[in-house]
Amino acid sequence: MTQHFIVIGNPIAHSKSPEIHTLFATQTGIDIRYQRQYCPDDEASFIAVIEAFFRGGGVGANVTVPFKQVAYDCCLARGGLSEHAKVTGAVNTLLLNKTLLDNGASVAEAVYGDNTDGQGLVNHITSLSWPLDGAHVALIGAGGAARGVIMPLIESGIATLTIANRTLNKATDLVNELSNASPIINEQQIKTCRTAELSGQFDLIINATSIGLSDATLPLSAALNCQYAYDMMYGRTLPFLQHFAARGAQISDGYGMLIGQAALSFEHWTGHTIDVAQATKILNKS
Ligand code: NDP
Repeated sequence: MTQHFIVIGNPIAHSKSPEIHTLFATQTGIDIRYQRQYCPDDEASFIAVIEAFFRGGGVGANVTVPFKQVAYDCCLARGGLSEHAKVTGAVNTLLLNKTLLDNGASVAEAVYGDNTDGQGLVNHITSLSWPLDGAHVALIGAGGAARGVIMPLIESGIATLTIANRTLNKATDLVNELSNASPIINEQQIKTCRTAELSGQFDLIINATSIGLSDATLPLSAALNCQYAYDMMYGRTLPFLQHFAARGAQISDGYGMLIGQAALSFEHWTGHTIDVAQATKILNKS
């Protein structure tokens, strides 16, 4: 029987999720239909779309901009949240909580949320053989994407994390909030600064800003260096990566993170493990 999945967003036409999940389905021999779902940018429409999808027999949904926080609120009031979704305050993966359904909850009451973005990043970095255990890491940005990767990075065993942001108080507020939300996030392990003031030698620097969407460039100090540079953006030339490649760093864009988070969603929904390395090779060629 065909299993139905959607990715909900606004805009949504650009999403690569259908081709990624269709490849996973071929890899695992599952019959799926995975579609892009446009939704008007308001909470009531989002909830109406989700409830109609699951009532109609849908198995799982991905959530993208601008609905990740709305999805969090929706699951908090219904079927619950994974630990990563709770700490992140955002949801990118929806499914039905089977325990609640077995106990008599309606489909609408059983919508459950997870967040696989951060673990997708950590899995991609690990697959590149970039060491995280004991690493000194700088994360530039304090928006939704940065928020999602902090807990998985700490869990991966990094030694220190420096969060740099254009607006300093957003970075300090984020650290306060996350350290209150999770005992594994220790304020002593995390420093904050303004992006232009970030300097020194790091093992890994991750760009989690949205600057790659514009023609602007980050104000990077001449005294800032790293062995590995990662930009969460993908699909275009990224000056951040060019800057560190010219200084001898190994670099990667965020396409592998996108595939990594998708693989984790697919595994939650279907119970099938994805060969991410093989999928990445095929998707990179397409
Ligand atoms: P948000 O809008 O939540 O946050 C944007 C961040 O970028 C803020 O920290 C903001 O700083 C900073 N920023 C924006 N413009 C500038 C600028 N001109 N100079 C310096 N800093 C700037 O976005 P998200 O966190 O949701 O997304 C960030 C990026 O991550 C996007 O490019 C997105 O495509 C990518 N992403 C990739 C994923 C993947 O799977 N590869 C998954 C999720 C996101 P300030 O606080 O000062 O405004």
